[in-house]
Amino acid sequence: MELYSGYINKLIEELAALPGIGSKSAQRLAFHLINMPQDRVKRLADTMVEAKANVRYCKECFTLTDKDVCPVCANQSRDHKTIMVVENARDLAAYEKTGRYEGVYHVLHGAISPMLGIGPGDIKLKELMERLRGDVQEVIIATNSSLEGETTAMYISKMIKPAGIRVTRIASGVPVGGDLEYIDEVTLLRALEGRVEL
Ligand code: ZN
Repeated sequence: MELYSGYINKLIEELAALPGIGSKSAQRLAFHLINMPQDRVKRLADTMVEAKANVRYCKECFTLTDKDVCPVCANQSRDHKTIMVVENARDLAAYEKTGRYEGVYHVLHGAISPMLGIGPGDIKLKELMERLRGDVQEVIIATNSSLEGETTAMYISKMIKPAGIRVTRIASGVPVGGDLEYIDEVTLLRALEGRVEL
């Protein structure tokens, strides 16, 4: 039995497929959208389509940006010889919020996970190695402290070490399995300052 109209059901279904949105939230959002003025719904839909069409990867660090090169990579006063490797653009944003990291980043867009069938070729590792052909002094591995994050950190370390580049790992103190974006700035800074050689 269809409880709602077909359109509502479809909307609920699409919303529920988004991460972190359960069926109750999806219903709530769907009804909220239906009750919104037409022009606001259109603005929201247009914003999504425009963002999808215009956002791309930074040519250098692979974070999401509107331009060829993101503002961090374009900033010449940043230390381009220090590269912090993070799993996603949200982790980059978390470190940027501290305002204390002066290097640049490399966004992997994931982590190695044999369980989920995600191998080294599925994340931006080849691109990282290409960047390391330039003048790089240190690679700070700031992947999450989950099993996948640690596996990825070890893999990167083994890959880079022969190149003679300093490889460090952010200190523990970042809760195990904790997504970097949920950790407060003080903890992030402590993890960065207490980084250890790999
Ligand atoms: Zn960039």
